Amino acid sequence: MTPGVRPFVAGNWKMNGVFASLGEIEAMRRAADAGEAGEAELAVCPPATLLAQAAWKIRGGKLSLGAQDCHPEPSGAFTGDISAPMLKDAGATYVIVGHSERRTLHYETDALVRAKAEAALKAGLTAIVCVGETKEERQAGDAIAVVTRQLKGSLPPGGGPDSVVVSYEPVWAIGTGLTPTPKDVTEMHGAIRTLLGEIYGPGGSKLRILYGGSVKPGNCRDLLTLDNVDGALIGGASLKAAEFLAIAAAYR
Ligand code: PEP
Repeated sequence: MTPGVRPFVAGNWKMNGVFASLGEIEAMRRAADAGEAGEAELAVCPPATLLAQAAWKIRGGKLSLGAQDCHPEPSGAFTGDISAPMLKDAGATYVIVGHSERRTLHYETDALVRAKAEAALKAGLTAIVCVGETKEERQAGDAIAVVTRQLKGSLPPGGGPDSVVVSYEPVWAIGTGLTPTPKDVTEMHGAIRTLLGEIYGPGGSKLRILYGGSVKPGNCRDLLTLDNVDGALIGGASLKAAEFLAIAAAYR
């Protein structure tokens, strides 16, 4: 945790969720409104098909809404893509960019991730910029160098605590049940904090740095209380409100 920084717990539903899943979002909203996550802000990032309906369900409440990706252009001939202004229009306030599944499966480069983050800021969205090393990179002792390079290439110029969130997600920890040691997380988040200061100046000390990768109710307290860990991005464990809220309760 970082003194003076409001924790943030966000769920990334990936390509999961249909109309019937909106009940989970309603349950999250009730918990957010009831303060079940203490001071922490809660957000859910469902697939784009559910954004507008989810926005309707959470209107006037304390649960925030995010999308999972955006195109760098605001509009145009890009069949199948969705722009940042469209996400904003649908009711999102956050958008994830540079998730490792997009970097790997869609060959997204740091430059493209930065263009998406810039588009997000221009549309008035907060960009959740994801970075993280592979297993091979960690084993080679390159984890901090890789994440530093990704951040230097992916972070949008002019960002600050209200417009950018960083999520450190080791690729090898996503969906595997594996997590880095508390020492490794503390070391990485400390390095990210230092870099954010170099890039954004004083605002960098207040940017939220999330940890993501196999966060579960059983390990959340150990991870979320570490220095410079200001919350979590949660995949699989965010699909059911009960599990997601059990993690968020770490901040109660
Ligand atoms: C993610 O995909 O952002 C993630 C952290 O997934 P999981 O929690 O399932 O490891």
